[in-house]
Amino acid sequence: MIGVLALQGAFIEHEKTLRSLGAEVREIRQPRDLAGLQGIVLPGGESTAQGKLLRETGLAEPLRKMILDGLPVLATCAGLILLAEKEHLGVLPVTVRRNAYGRQLGSFNAKKEFKGIGPYPMVFIRAPYVSDPGQTEVLAKVGGRVVAVRHKKIIALSFHPELTGDNRIHRMFLDTV
Ligand code: GLN
Repeated sequence: MIGVLALQGAFIEHEKTLRSLGAEVREIRQPRDLAGLQGIVLPGGESTAQGKLLRETGLAEPLRKMILDGLPVLATCAGLILLAEKEHLGVLPVTVRRNAYGRQLGSFNAKKEFKGIGPYPMVFIRAPYVSDPGQTEVLAKVGGRVVAVRHKKIIALSFHPELTGDNRIHRMFLDTV
């Protein structure tokens, strides 16, 4: 059973992609939804709102523990920020820069090499990037900036793989589950 955090943001497309790959999916809105999960997707959206809702629903602490205990995670965009920033989950040892591309370049597409997959179409929407990946494994860069990392069973991306119809990153995530 794969959870998709469904507090705010772009969770529906992740559910569709996961189901198309044969996964069973559950929307996560409260702590009891976490029972028995084998992996979780943290979708894009607005990280400040999502972080607030994580705390208000009581999801933040149990989810944090499950991730530290090895729950596989696929995090996209705001989800990357939630994992990295200490005021949110703080379980991914990288530094991120929010809304890193400014207004003009706030949203754009690129096709770049993704480690283990090959050229991959990437959609960026007011995206963060990883300004310091620390000891994590860099999976992709665009314009010299790190946009995807892996750390233990966490795959974290600046961009939105659920919007391109290319399900290879979701498949890579399911392989870690
Ligand atoms: N700009 C958003 C934030 O800072 C992230 C954007 C996204 O998830 N597409 O939370």
